[in-house]
This record gives sequence, C-alpha cells and structure tokens, in this order.
Amino acid sequence: MAEIIELKNVSYNYQNNTPFEQAALKNVSLKIDKNDFIAIIGHTGSGKSTLVQLINGLILPTQGEIKVLKQKINKDTKQKELYNLRKKVGIVFQFAESQLFAETVLEDTAFGPLNFGLNKDEAIQKAKEALKKVNISEELYQKSPFELSGGQMRRVAIAGIIAINPEILIVDEPTIGLDPKGRYEMMHLFKELNDSGVTIILVTHSMEDTAKYANKVIVMENGQVLKEVKTKDLFKDDNFLLSHQLALPKVTSFYQKLRALDPSKYEDKVILTVDELAKEIALKNGGSKNE
Ligand code: ADP
Ligand code: MG
Repeated sequence: MAEIIELKNVSYNYQNNTPFEQAALKNVSLKIDKNDFIAIIGHTGSGKSTLVQLINGLILPTQGEIKVLKQKINKDTKQKELYNLRKKVGIVFQFAESQLFAETVLEDTAFGPLNFGLNKDEAIQKAKEALKKVNISEELYQKSPFELSGGQMRRVAIAGIIAINPEILIVDEPTIGLDPKGRYEMMHLFKELNDSGVTIILVTHSMEDTAKYANKVIVMENGQVLKEVKTKDLFKDDNFLLSHQLALPKVTSFYQKLRALDPSKYEDKVILTVDELAKEIALKNGGSKNE
C-alpha cells in the first residue's frame, strides 16, 4: 500500500514559549496509506483535533516533520507552500455549520472550488454535484444557509469541502447532534467517497461507526498515539479497551455474550457489524451463508 501521510516525532504546543504553553501532541509518529478509512478515537482532550489540523497544514508542528502527499511540513513551512495541499486535503471541523458565511447555500458551497481556481460556472457545477451527494434539495440552493436546520447546515458545510474533490477528507466528529437517519446518511456518504478512492480520516467517539467503517484505528491518549491497529485487532483486545475506558461496539459485545452462553456452537471471533452478526446466527441455526 502506498503511504500518503507520515508523521515523524511530531509535537505540538499551543501558545508555545509562553507561560500558557500547552503540550497537545507529544512525539507522535504514524503512517496512513492511500484509500485507508481511518478512525481516530480517544477521550476529549487527547489531541485528536490537533492531530488532524496538523495533517491539513492549518497549524505547523512545534517539532518534527509531517509528509502529506508530496508536501513536507515542519515548523518553518510557509503558508504559500501549503496552497496546493489545501486543494487535496479537505477538512470538515467539529461543528462545521459555524463555518458557513455566504448569502446562499449554493454560493457557500461554490466558494472552495472558486477559490481554488475554477471559473464561476464550473464552481457552481461542482457545488451542485456536492449538494446532491449530501441530499440538499434544489429548493434550498438560494436560501440563506442560516435558515436551514442544524443537520442541513452541517451537510452544506460538508458539501463545500467535497466540492473541491479532495484526495484526503478529514472529518472531525461530523455526526454529533444529528438524528439516526442523518448520521447513517453521512457515514454512508463517507463510505461511498472511500469506495471511489478518497482516503478518509474520521475523528469519532462512536465505536459502532469505527467498527462498521474503519479499516484502521488510531487510539489517542494524552497527546500520544496509544495504538495504531487494524479494526478487528482493536476489538479483539477487551483488556486494552477496558483499561482505557473504551467500549466495545454493542454488536461485538452481544456476540461475545451469545458465545459465552453456548461456546460449542459459536466460534471465537470478532463480529463488527449487524450484517456479520445476522449471518453468523443464521449459519449456526441452519440458515444459508449465501442467504
Ligand atoms: P481532542 O480533539 O481529542 O478533544 P484537542 O486536540 O482539541 O483534543 O486538544 C488537545 C489538548 O490541547 C487539550 O489539552 C486541549 O485543552 C488543548 N488545546 C486545544 N486547543 C487549544 C487552544 N486553542 N489553546 C490552548 N490549548 C488548546
Ligand atoms: Mg476535538
């Protein structure tokens, strides 16, 4: 697999060299491959948002070096060197709706493509395609983004990033506050983008989404990477999860309990999705694996 992101001994301090200095990342090294779907998990304050802002070049490391695509980033990197990177790495912040600013939904979504050099018609075209992907209907295009519901605003903000066709899409807790349908649709969109070749980096508290969508998980604690692990291997390791106050996905835990009741029937394996669980139960009860 081709790696497209590498951090080497990266540290980041907020308000560096002041009495208010706050070490947010400490000596972090990690690699992300092209077309990975990465989940970054860890408690509040563990450094997740800081990490993703470094990957996008929004903040520069206090120490160490980052390589994203072909761009190297260190403490001396100039903003103008990062222009091309910003076209390729899209970031959707926590509470992205607060980034909306334009007079209409369509203008807001077209801002990114326009800013990165497309002409007005092309940018509008890209914006419309992106709004369609996030299920924002045409009647809303000329409305003020501030007239929309919270969930719609969030989707418009995400459309604005998707409209630049990023190679890497970073989403920081994108489903917080959405209803179940909104959450499902949004996660499904990230999966589709990932299937079409986009590398996804998802910051999340949801073990269910991690289990269902991510191929690899980065566990952060106290500004450090505690584990960089394949999703199945993470959920195999109950003791690790327990000792770091991380939960198993409900479906994984259900299967463990089922197996504990009937160990001769159910194999020792890690189940991550409702579909896998249903197949396993059907198979062990006379159903066919191929449905
Ligand atoms: P997470 O996203 O995992 O909740 P953050 O990356 O936001 O973690 O924060 C990591 C650490 O950096 C925390 O201790 C937090 O208080 C601190 N921090 C975050 N943003 C700032 C800031 N703008 N100024 C000072 N400290 C900050
Ligand atoms: Mg955060």
